[in-house]
Amino acid sequence: MSTINIKENSAKTILTKSKLPKCDYVINPYLGCLHGCHYCYADFMKRFSNHAEPWGKFIDIKKNAAQTLDKELKKVRPKSVLLSSVTDAYNPIEKKYGLTRQILKVLLKYQIPTSILTKSDLVLRDIDLLSRFDDCQVGFSFLSLNSRDSRNFEPTTTIPKRRINALKELKNNDIRTYAFIGPIMPYITELDPLFMHLSDVSVDYIFCESFNNRGQARSNIRSIIKQKYSHIQQAFWDSFDKNSDYWPETAQYINKLSDFYKIPVNIFFHR
Ligand code: SF4
Repeated sequence: MSTINIKENSAKTILTKSKLPKCDYVINPYLGCLHGCHYCYADFMKRFSNHAEPWGKFIDIKKNAAQTLDKELKKVRPKSVLLSSVTDAYNPIEKKYGLTRQILKVLLKYQIPTSILTKSDLVLRDIDLLSRFDDCQVGFSFLSLNSRDSRNFEPTTTIPKRRINALKELKNNDIRTYAFIGPIMPYITELDPLFMHLSDVSVDYIFCESFNNRGQARSNIRSIIKQKYSHIQQAFWDSFDKNSDYWPETAQYINKLSDFYKIPVNIFFHR
């Protein structure tokens, strides 16, 4: 933690109108994310915050987030809220500051339909609150079920098998669950074991997204593929060629898995 710049400040607003599907508003309790995933598209937030540190090495704590939300909810009543879009509400700093827990208490007070997407099983700490919502769902993201692949791209997240266990525990507490498979990395993300394990823990649906090869993260990924996956390097980049069949075939395969395991899927591939 010594090389991480942690700053406490206050937020004038905390509810942000969202263009994401089925999500009215988003809440980001923190600016920055200590998970520091190498494919993260949220590093554009640096432009809005005067941070020069690498993504994953700074975090701003919006200390008054819950109080601000309480005031906003007296004026606006969202149909649904997502935690979070440009941070992980359960990134490691949440253990110390508990902003997400404070925010959940406010959302619960107004019974705002809430969706959480995380890579950390710290979310289990809040089962007591989550299970009291009328409408709440928790999703985990997976690039792979393989811990080594996960570590290569998302170095400080909860390892995938623990995420699966967390989904199971949430389900055992009657909380609706989902999985986000993404970003799908060609020839690295193995779909069969993911679907099998996600079926075992009865997720309600799965969302699949391809790696966005046009994003800012392209150079990070290029260097990881070169260093750790040189044996598939050519095939990896060829899959993004506009004439490649890789993504249509992958979509077909996902639909087959969805039929086989009887789990609804949404597919979003950047082409
Ligand atoms: S957990 Fe999400 S927001 Fe945080 S670094 Fe990873 S991809 Fe970005």
